[in-house]
Amino acid sequence: AVRPAPPMTRTTCGYCGVGCALDVVAEEDRIAAVLPARDGPVNRGHACVKGRFAHGYLTSPERLTQPLLRGEHGLEPVGWDEALAHIARGLRAAIRAGGPDAVAAISSARSTNEENYLVQKFMRVVIGTNNVDNCSRLCHSPSAAGLTASFGLPGGTDTFDDVERSDCLLVVGANPVEAHPVIGARLLRRVLRGARLVVADPRAVGLAPHADVHLRPRPGTNVALCHGLAHVLLTEGLVDDEFLRHRAAGLPELTGLLADYPPDRVADLTGVPAADLVAAARLYGRAERPAIVYGLGVTEHLHGTDGVRALANLAILRGAVGTGRGFGVNPLRGQNNVQGASDMGALPDVLPGYGKVTDPAVRARAEEVWGVPVPPRPGLRIPEMFAAARAGRLGALWVIGEDVCATDPDANRVARALDICPLVVCDELFLSETARHADVVLPVASWLEKDGTFVNFDRRFQRVRPAVAPPGRARTDFDTVRAVAEAMGTDLGCPTPADALAECARMSPHFAGLSHRRLDREGAVCWPCPDPDRPGQATLYRERFATADGRAHLAAVPHLPPGEQPDGDYPLVMVTGRRWAHYNSGSMTRRGGNLALDPVDHLDIHPDDAVRYGLRDGEPVQVISRYGRARLIARIGGETAPGQVFCSFHFPASGVNRVTSDHADTVTSCPEYKVTAVRLAAD
Ligand code: SF4
Repeated sequence: AVRPAPPMTRTTCGYCGVGCALDVVAEEDRIAAVLPARDGPVNRGHACVKGRFAHGYLTSPERLTQPLLRGEHGLEPVGWDEALAHIARGLRAAIRAGGPDAVAAISSARSTNEENYLVQKFMRVVIGTNNVDNCSRLCHSPSAAGLTASFGLPGGTDTFDDVERSDCLLVVGANPVEAHPVIGARLLRRVLRGARLVVADPRAVGLAPHADVHLRPRPGTNVALCHGLAHVLLTEGLVDDEFLRHRAAGLPELTGLLADYPPDRVADLTGVPAADLVAAARLYGRAERPAIVYGLGVTEHLHGTDGVRALANLAILRGAVGTGRGFGVNPLRGQNNVQGASDMGALPDVLPGYGKVTDPAVRARAEEVWGVPVPPRPGLRIPEMFAAARAGRLGALWVIGEDVCATDPDANRVARALDICPLVVCDELFLSETARHADVVLPVASWLEKDGTFVNFDRRFQRVRPAVAPPGRARTDFDTVRAVAEAMGTDLGCPTPADALAECARMSPHFAGLSHRRLDREGAVCWPCPDPDRPGQATLYRERFATADGRAHLAAVPHLPPGEQPDGDYPLVMVTGRRWAHYNSGSMTRRGGNLALDPVDHLDIHPDDAVRYGLRDGEPVQVISRYGRARLIARIGGETAPGQVFCSFHFPASGVNRVTSDHADTVTSCPEYKVTAVRLAAD
């Protein structure tokens, strides 16, 4: 007899922002194989080692399978009813003592759009506060702010299919070969087929050997670097005068500012030779269809939003956005659904679809759908939540899928904030660093066990479908939010994820044409998508920019120094980022085969510095900053420039984020992970 084929489920990878479509084969409720979908809109039959192989964590014996409640002997297993009753009592007590603003929630990219929608609805409708934020605060919040200021919307300007038609790629502060491997491969193929490539990154990242020009600015000097490129574009006439006349604003102010950024001065500020700067500007300036792709090396800075705006200036000067004569400015999001978490309004100042909470008309639309008043004052951002907790002003904090004690900067202070807060609730897969500080831990489903949608980095909604059931008594975040609301005496509505997206579509014109049924039929749809009968807008701004005056806005922002500079006590700069086999705090990728691929947390050190500090390859090394210390294994090599060291944040036990500083983007509070002054010591 022929055995029937095991069931196969089409879903979307929950790791990086590429959003690969995957076909998951399950047998007896265990995953047997994960296959890249040949018709996946972005991946087209490809996937990386994370999407394909990092699913062993699902059946890890460390997986949480029932709620935990802190008692006399620490966290102890309890039933859902007891856990929910405790949470409801704690939330009511926090509101009684300090009002609704004494409660806060942190959502994340691990939750679907529908879950993020429900979390922010819970906070606004049940608690009565805008104190809700998500993990984009720590990565691409400067992209949202910068792109909105320059063009009008907080997403990338073009799709990846557009970018792939470019004849000159400017890749800034990103290492897609490791962090977004499917896109790294597509970029490389484009270059091998003739596109010119400029890489701007302090490290010799994966694409650098293939670049026509590799610019290596000192960390914290992106704004100066972009202004140097812009200076060359202007002085050599490599700009689109007609576009600047009719579709842009701010040229006189920028022209005045750029007079201070000739290549020689920029060389002094950034460490990039003036000749390289000129060569790179000419490549970008003379291309017929230039495109910019960038990553967290642009955003995670004291002046990260200014960096995004300075980058956007280049595309505007060239008329390479909204014209088809180039493919704009496109952020590579580190996590799938970090775009969606923000789109759904899990932010303290905007409702679903980015309408400001301070705008009465925006609130009125939400109030019509929800039937309750929406608080008009913006809520707390994540760092402000921790500060409020340390000051005794926060009575309850709900952390959903984000291991803040491992991934947020200056982690010792984060842990202190959680210990002071009277009620900390944590939705988690494992007993994470954060869960260890919680009062209640709720066991939840992973992305392979739930139903909903994600939005990838080119604003593409795709379906997420459960391939297997969650273990034990674990529930989806969707169900936990509904259950907590019920325990507080409120029915949140939206009985299913499809209902939640439908309700969100009623609130925001950007999503009005979206539904689960449509996504099941079409596979993927980009937002803005105001009409159910018309395609979403994959490429933005063909008619007008989404700013108030319909123009793209050049930004005359000066270069300012980073929060920290190396000095006699801390002579090196530490930069953190991603490695190819792991994802974020590593809670999923370290519990399976991927650990064998990359088992140790390394500190990359330039050979000159290794000699200077007497360090040998493979030996333990301590990294010490003004904030704390971490222990890693030295890896000596030329990828990192002299005076800089690089490590990941995938191994919380190393303590890397006890070392990072609490300097943060002056506009969005995104941490400056890319510049921490450190010293090294043999361990
Ligand atoms: Fe694709 Fe990124 Fe998932 Fe890898 S981690 S399979 S590149 S979405």
